[in-house]
Amino acid sequence: MTKIVESWVTFRKEPLRESFSTSLRSVNELTIVEFHIKTDAGHEVFGETVETPAITGDTLNQIVLDLSTTLAEALIGSDFEGASSFFYKHLNNKLATRSAKSAVDIALYELEAAIQGKSLKQVLDCSVSDIDTDITVPLTSIDEIPQILADRQEFSCFKIKLGIDSLQTQIAKIALLRDISGAHARIRVDPNQAWSVEESIEFLKAADRLSLNIEYLEQPISASNKSGLARIRSQSSTKIMADESILTVEDLEELLSLDAVDLVNIKIIKSGGITPALEIIERAKAFGMEFSVGTMMEGDKGILAAFAIAGAQKPDYCHDLDAAWWASNSGFTYSAGKVSL
Ligand SMILES: [Mg+2]
Repeated sequence: MTKIVESWVTFRKEPLRESFSTSLRSVNELTIVEFHIKTDAGHEVFGETVETPAITGDTLNQIVLDLSTTLAEALIGSDFEGASSFFYKHLNNKLATRSAKSAVDIALYELEAAIQGKSLKQVLDCSVSDIDTDITVPLTSIDEIPQILADRQEFSCFKIKLGIDSLQTQIAKIALLRDISGAHARIRVDPNQAWSVEESIEFLKAADRLSLNIEYLEQPISASNKSGLARIRSQSSTKIMADESILTVEDLEELLSLDAVDLVNIKIIKSGGITPALEIIERAKAFGMEFSVGTMMEGDKGILAAFAIAGAQKPDYCHDLDAAWWASNSGFTYSAGKVSL
């Protein structure tokens, strides 16, 4: 059987075409951490991750340390029988950051693909070449919104980032977005935990009064406050999505038991790999919970893995796969509201 005999870490910098700002952070350039593995049969593949300390709590230093010590030790000399079984056997119970495990798991799926002579997409059962996606409208002043939308004319599904502002300003931004994008555009609102329960309810009531037709409100309040999401949901007909509140299967079960949300946003890095992300999706499907697949601001390999999961698990949905649009250089292209490769 194939054994992993060597692993190492490299880095690459990816400049963004414009600054990506949310209530949690602002990013101009990504540092992609690449985790390479080599087998005794000569296969050489890599997975990758990025630090998003404001979301996962995982810093670049800790990720690199985990990859070079705990996770490298778990891999070297172990027989490879396939990515998901290897993950559960050797990685799942290791004390290491999810961001680091995610890079390892992507590398394991790349290895499975290489051994089978397939692509990562094929090994994840993705047969589509394009997928509908939203595009982020970053946290900005209202005056900037017309130009931001002018730069995004190929899209009709928008995810607008909101932060700390008066209710009047928040609503004015959505009204302007609705006005410019038209009645048929989809508008998703993501305050990235910046609001209170009361502010969220007030916002949704005001948006309803003006018929702004918000598709969903994503993670308006603190990640730990799952019962608060349930209170917001009980006060509005607008759908509520969890993002930072869902990292694990246990989080999903807690959200389900509280009847807290209508949808969950699944991302490989915050789940700790492709395998646990697929486990959450499987559980969400079993309980009839809607989901979308998203990414962090990350590199093409991570986006490819998310694309493959979205395309295999829910090809006819508008996912959250705009990260490559922000990259100065990417193998993905965007047109007519779709991401393709
Ligand atoms: Mg989000």
